[in-house]
Amino acid sequence: MNRIIHLKNRPEGTPQLDDFEFIEEEKPVAGDGEILLKSKFVSVDPYLRGRMRDQKSYVEPFRLNEPVESGIIAEIVESNNDNFKKGDFVNGMLQWKEFQTSTGKGLNKVDPEKASLSAYLGVLGLTGLTAYISLEHIGNLKNGETLLVSGASGAVGSTVGQIGKIKGCHVVGIAGTDEKLKLMKDTFGFDKGINYKTTDDMKKAIAEACPEGVDVYFDNVGGEILDAAMQNINENGRVINCGAISLYNKTEVPMGPRYEGIMVKKTVLMQGFLVRQHAKEFGPATKQLAEWLNEGKLTYEETIVEGFENIPQAFLDLFNGKNKGKMVVKI
Ligand code: NAP
Repeated sequence: MNRIIHLKNRPEGTPQLDDFEFIEEEKPVAGDGEILLKSKFVSVDPYLRGRMRDQKSYVEPFRLNEPVESGIIAEIVESNNDNFKKGDFVNGMLQWKEFQTSTGKGLNKVDPEKASLSAYLGVLGLTGLTAYISLEHIGNLKNGETLLVSGASGAVGSTVGQIGKIKGCHVVGIAGTDEKLKLMKDTFGFDKGINYKTTDDMKKAIAEACPEGVDVYFDNVGGEILDAAMQNINENGRVINCGAISLYNKTEVPMGPRYEGIMVKKTVLMQGFLVRQHAKEFGPATKQLAEWLNEGKLTYEETIVEGFENIPQAFLDLFNGKNKGKMVVKI
């Protein structure tokens, strides 16, 4: 039998386990020109929350009572397609199923000899690419500048901070536990960390950790942390709006302070970023990330949850900050 995870309800506020449903079906068989895939590593990502809403966005919403999908590394266990052979591993946007068939369209082969399979979902996958490409396009980091990043111990944030160090910046990370701050300093080489859960005055804490002000703020969380960062932004500062996880489960978006005045007076650039709009740059960007990994300039952390049945919980745990580095589920 084959296990599949459907979206059962559109979550109101924070998603719950019973918004998902486990279904069993006959294991599929590869047809003419098709391959049979066995899921090995499943990526859970904050943006999947947006796809659970019935709203028009840059990506189609999930349909109710149909499988959820995300980035998955799968092994080819049967092949009737000359482009793929049994035993190959592929990366692609696939459904939350233990086994599924595919024509191979949209799948990329990955080499387990060159990197661990799960790394193709993190530092060598969309999260690493998000960090690298957005910094290239919007961050424009210069030696000696101050880079502030939120969600700093997560998949995107930990890569952002390390690229900041490679570029010679003073790097300050914001995260939700002291253990994460230690990881940021000891493993990722950040200069300073701020625990936003134990800090009453984020504006003051950022000012203390960034004595020269903030030149680039990489925003993964939005909300009050963005507001505090804006109050420390320097002239010609750049703000990369990568994500706003603090707002993803809100049923009403709270109104924050207005910073139009700051943006005009300080000629700040604030720009949203979507990695999927930069597919043409994935090749060279992955090459650069892989080079830094091989040279030991870049490293990564993963939180690996075991078991197909734990995919929904792993997704929910992103919102509880249970992960350090990239959250993946090993099947
Ligand atoms: P991640 O940072 O590895 O995991 C999510 C982290 O967010 C949690 O570990 C948690 O850490 C933090 N968090 C959860 N709730 C929070 C809250 N209310 N306030 C502040 N922090 C909170 O996830 P990721 O995959 O790297 O994604 C990071 C951000 O980038 C997300 O906003 C995501 O949507 C965005 N993203 C955007 C693109 C794009 O193309 N624009 C691509 C990939 C990801 P703490 O313990 O620190 O709270």
